[in-house]
Amino acid sequence: MSTRRMLILDDDPAVGQTIQWIAEGLGLEAEFVTNAQDFFAGLDRRCADFITVDLAMPNLDGVEVMRLLAERKCASRIIISSGMGNRVLAAAERSAAEHGLDIAGVIAKPISKAALRSMVGEASEGKESVWADETAYEFIQNEAIDQASLQGGLDRHEFELAYQPKVDCRSGVPAGFEALARWRRHGDGLVMPVHFIPVAEETGLIEAFTAQVFGKSIAWFGRSFPDSGLKLSLNLSAKSLVDIQLVDRLSSVCTEFQVAPERIVIELTETSAMVDPVLSLDLMTRFRVKGFQLSIDDFGTGYSSMVQLVRLPFSEIKVDKSFVMNARQSQESRSVIKSIIDLGHSLGLVVTAEGVEDAETFDYLKSQGCDYAQGYFIARPMTGETARKWVSERNAAVS
Ligand code: C2E
Ligand code: CA
Ligand code: CA
Repeated sequence: MSTRRMLILDDDPAVGQTIQWIAEGLGLEAEFVTNAQDFFAGLDRRCADFITVDLAMPNLDGVEVMRLLAERKCASRIIISSGMGNRVLAAAERSAAEHGLDIAGVIAKPISKAALRSMVGEASEGKESVWADETAYEFIQNEAIDQASLQGGLDRHEFELAYQPKVDCRSGVPAGFEALARWRRHGDGLVMPVHFIPVAEETGLIEAFTAQVFGKSIAWFGRSFPDSGLKLSLNLSAKSLVDIQLVDRLSSVCTEFQVAPERIVIELTETSAMVDPVLSLDLMTRFRVKGFQLSIDDFGTGYSSMVQLVRLPFSEIKVDKSFVMNARQSQESRSVIKSIIDLGHSLGLVVTAEGVEDAETFDYLKSQGCDYAQGYFIARPMTGETARKWVSERNAAVS
C-alpha cells in the first residue's frame, strides 16, 4: 500500500508543524501550508488522502475553504481542527457534511497524537457494512421503488427481519431485541428501510407491510425464546395509527405464538406526524390496556417532542442515537442524555439509549442510571439464527 498523504492548512506555522510531525509519526506523508493559496496550489499538484483544516483563519476561514473544496468535488477525507468550542466545531462538521464532503471528524486544539490517530486510523479502516452478519450481501437501491415493486415484494414475502440486541446497562445481560426490516429484493440484494418505508407510507402499503413483518418477527420470537424475560421491540410508523383493527390483530398474533403482550414493545416514530391525533391516542391507550409496552423512538429530535411524551401513554423513552453517538466527544450531548434519563425516570418510564458505539459511552450511560443500551458497541443487527446464539454466548460471558 502506498504511503497516505496529508495536507494541513493552519495559519499558525507552529501548529501546522506540530500536526505535520504527529501525522508523520503515524506513518503518513505530511505537509503544512499557512494560507489558502498555497493550499489549493498544493492540491492541484497532488491529491491528498487527508486534509486537516483550521476553522479560524484571518483571510479565508475554514468554512469557506470547505465550501471551495466541495465545489471542486474534493474526495479527500477532511479533519476539522479548531480552538473554538465544541458547538462551533460540531456545526462546522454538519455544514461540511451537508456540502457532500467526506468528514473524518473534528479535533479540538491542542491536537494530540491519540486524537489524530483515531481519525486517520478510523479513516483507513473504511466504512463497515451495516449488517456485519450479512456482509456478503450487496445493499442495493439502484432500482426505483414504487407501489408496484413494493406490492410485488409483499406478495413474494421478500421482507426479512434483522434483530439488534438490547442489554441491561447495569449487568450487561441481554434484555431483548429490536426487529429491523430489510427487503431481500428479487432474492439477492438487501434494501435498507430508509429506501422503502417512506414509499410504503405514501402508497398506503404500510399496513400490509406492518402486518407481514410483525407476524414474522413475533413468530420468530415465540419460537426462539418461549420462556424468557426477553422483550421484542417492533417499529410502528405513527402514520399507521389509523387502523382500528391493529390492536386486536396484534393481540391475536401474540396469542397464536404464545407471546405475552407485556413482552412486546411498540416503538413509535414521528409521533408528531400522526394523521388523526384523537384516534391515535385511543389506539395507543388500547395497546397499553392489552398489556403492550409503548416506546417513544428518536426522543429529542423534532419528531418526538415533550408534548407527545406528556400527552401519550408511553412506558419507555428511546434516546435518539444522534446524541448517543456523539456522547464521547460532546459535553452538550452528554448533558442532553442525562436530562432525558432524568426526565424519563421522573415520569416513571424506562430509558433506552440507542447508537452506543463505544465503551466510554456505555460506561457513561451506566453511571447516569440509564436502563438499557443498544448499538454497535453491543452488537449490530443480526439474523434471527445468529440472535439465538448471541443470547446464549452473551449470557455465558457476563455471568
Ligand atoms: P430506528 O428505529 O431509529 O432504528 C435504529 C437504526 O439505527 C437502525 O437502522 C439500526 O441499524 C441503526 N443503529 C443501531 N445501532 C447503531 C449504532 O450504534 N450506530 C449507528 N450509526 N446506527 C445504529 P436501520 O435498520 O437502517 O433502520 C432505520 C429506520 O427504519 C429505523 O430507525 C426505523 O425507523 C425504520 N424501520 C426499520 N424497520 C421498520 C419496520 O419494521 N417498520 C417501520 N415502520 N419502520 C422500520
Ligand atoms: Ca426504533
Ligand atoms: Ca431510533
